[in-house]
Amino acid sequence: RLEVRGLKRNFGGLDVVRDVSLSLQAGQVTGLLGPSGCGKSTTLRIIAGVDHQTEGEVWIDGQMVAGPGVFVPPEKRHIGLMFQDFALFPHLSVGDNVAFGLSGTRTEKRQRVYTLLDKVGLGKFVDKFPHELSGGEQQRVALARALAPKPSIMLMDEPFSGLDNRLRDGIRDEALSILKEEGAAVLLVTHEPEEAMRMADEIALMRAGQIVQHGAPYNLYNAPVDLQAAAFFSDVN
Ligand code: ATP
Ligand code: MG
Repeated sequence: RLEVRGLKRNFGGLDVVRDVSLSLQAGQVTGLLGPSGCGKSTTLRIIAGVDHQTEGEVWIDGQMVAGPGVFVPPEKRHIGLMFQDFALFPHLSVGDNVAFGLSGTRTEKRQRVYTLLDKVGLGKFVDKFPHELSGGEQQRVALARALAPKPSIMLMDEPFSGLDNRLRDGIRDEALSILKEEGAAVLLVTHEPEEAMRMADEIALMRAGQIVQHGAPYNLYNAPVDLQAAAFFSDVN
């Protein structure tokens, strides 16, 4: 379980994130949705521990990991990350990419690698190298790699935006069922209402550094908080 309380981030006198609070449950996907530049990636980076908040707190499973005088480094937060440009290691095979962050015996690691590659439908690709894979296949490997250490929290920043439409729909659905199976609490950052509607159990709508509306996708679509939100959702069908 992840809790973000009163998060604020100031860059050069400007509050790009101001008073963001969020709560994520295991097995649920929360969509952090909003236009370009509204502060989504900054929020996600602070949660991951690769940026520092100006104010506020981040809690993971009852432990404060960021707050006044507290900073737990990213590698100790048990968070999985997936970004659009989060490349695979080119010199490592698919199997070694997925095994990268794993600890345990060789047999345990192998087991986990095969389990995940099978889930993403790439069991036969274990000895291939990233350059031998299509973009969509690489994305699947990246998902497998992020999930391999069984993170309790998964942060995804526009993970599917580099893919063409047809491919993306397939991977979204697949990713969603794997994420549900693995039971992580997922924060999905996207600027596409359609993606949030399709994948999220709950949506936090962000604008100019603040969450302006939070609720079930259906509620945001049917009862947008204001005209701007209505316009934002208007192309979804
Ligand atoms: P997009 O959908 O385009 O990815 P976003 O919602 O993820 O947008 P952020 O990347 O969080 O937006 O950026 C929010 C604002 O903060 C932007 O105006 C950006 O220019 C600014 N910003 C982000 N990082 C820094 C930084 N390190 N220094 C200064 N300004 C920054
Ligand atoms: Mg961003």
